[in-house]
Amino acid sequence: MKTYPGGKKKAFQITYDDGVLQDVRFVQLLNKYGIKGTFNLNSQLMQQEFSWVHPNGMEVRRLSPQAAQGLYDGHEIASHTLTHPYMQNLSDSELQRQMKADKDNLEQMFGVQVRGFAVPFDYYDDRIARCAKDCGFAYARKSECSGSFTPGTDPYHWQTGIYHIDPNLTNFVADFLNTEEELALCQIVGHSYDLDAENLWGNDGIYLCRPVCPQRHLVLHPRRTDRLFVSVGDDAHIVPTHNPVGADAHIRP
Ligand SMILES: [Zn+2]
Repeated sequence: MKTYPGGKKKAFQITYDDGVLQDVRFVQLLNKYGIKGTFNLNSQLMQQEFSWVHPNGMEVRRLSPQAAQGLYDGHEIASHTLTHPYMQNLSDSELQRQMKADKDNLEQMFGVQVRGFAVPFDYYDDRIARCAKDCGFAYARKSECSGSFTPGTDPYHWQTGIYHIDPNLTNFVADFLNTEEELALCQIVGHSYDLDAENLWGNDGIYLCRPVCPQRHLVLHPRRTDRLFVSVGDDAHIVPTHNPVGADAHIRP
């Protein structure tokens, strides 16, 4: 049976978008429990103090470059384009600029190599995949979820498992804990502002599911460390759970 590093049978990965103010509280909790995540940032919106109003009336604000400095240490920083455009109608040159300039900006701002790309909104096609490759990204994540624990095989059409606010998340995580599937991978995608909007902050963790009934709360911390391989350990710049090429190098036959 193949395993993840350390002989772990399963992998757990979170990937959160947009670099918003709630990331401060969220990252503190991840750090407390030794969980490493991927944060997908829009470098130009960070400079512009961009904000928008959530359907529930809450103002969602981006972190400034100053506020983000040091926050993501130990986690992966990935590109989410310069300005979060809908990418279907962009010219080839604008597509390239949105991806490559964001990668360059983030590398300069944080002094790390940016290997990953996460598409904004839900449109994705082969042109974006090719551009991600041309820009030097090691993987590109689309917004469509697989709903499964099977790691993808194409790093430029990478799918996560489920959205944090999906009503089925409780069952999804329970199934993950029970599955015997080889190299099972639980990947959750979200936005930390949802934790405010959906009231998912726990006393000492984060509710992975809507608090429908108390006994079904799942708190995001590695209670099952015997079975979960939590992200990438010592090498935060390689996220094997996102990148099948990297994963292969880490997987033991
Ligand atoms: Zn986004």
